[in-house]
Amino acid sequence: MRIDVFTIFPEMVEDFAGRSLLGRAREAGLLDVRVHDLRAGTADPHRSMDDAPFGGGAGMVLMPEPIFTVVEAVEPPRPLLLLGPGGRRLDQARVLELAASEGFSLLCGRYEGVDERVRAHLVDEELSIGDYVLAGGEVAAMVVVEAVGRLVPGVMGSAASADEESFAEGLLEYPQYTRPAEFRGWAVPEVLRSGDHARIARWRRAQALARTLACRPDLIAARGGLSAEDEALVEEFRAEGELD
Ligand code: SAH
Repeated sequence: MRIDVFTIFPEMVEDFAGRSLLGRAREAGLLDVRVHDLRAGTADPHRSMDDAPFGGGAGMVLMPEPIFTVVEAVEPPRPLLLLGPGGRRLDQARVLELAASEGFSLLCGRYEGVDERVRAHLVDEELSIGDYVLAGGEVAAMVVVEAVGRLVPGVMGSAASADEESFAEGLLEYPQYTRPAEFRGWAVPEVLRSGDHARIARWRRAQALARTLACRPDLIAARGGLSAEDEALVEEFRAEGELD
């Protein structure tokens, strides 16, 4: 999997991609993250990248020339995704789609954003990480690289963990516990220590359903509501006082 990132702050992204899980994945050759400095495309001695907006207004806009120059010299893997608050919102389904590809590229804006001709004639799509405004695309790019990178086969220790975590199947994950079995008087639910794997699986599913219903009813609605079977499962555990 190759991911190219275009930014005026290459050190930020390079440092992030060099650490922990991503760093190890790069060293192992599982993930090929290439960070490109957009300033390499500037022609003037001051390496200026931005200029005031035509028509007036606050802030500065990244000029098209250096961006086109660097991207065209690299010919990065497509799609080339522009990070921006106006894009399609990133979710786990999109992350899975990107993780199944051989590669893609990310373009980070700064200041007031990029000249419209970059969006219209260079990038393939715009991608947002949420309905809020950042100062630059770098953090957003790191979100994408991390969310996608961890799903590349071999990057996470246990391949099974991705199938059970939040958003797999449109549900939040069930609660997790580790040692000690009792902490400050709060005990780990008995069922998890019972060794009864069928019952543990049913408890976990009931918890995931109940938690999603409580915290993210929109996810349940997107599944078309609860099936009769799921509803019965939640009722069963609720009746036993095992759900909040
Ligand atoms: N003036 C723009 C915001 C520019 S923010 C507007 O009102 O839409 C500067 C840069 O930060 C953007 O070019 C983009 O690359 C990045 N950015 C800001 N918010 C983002 C978000 N929610 N998702 C992804 N990138 C974002």
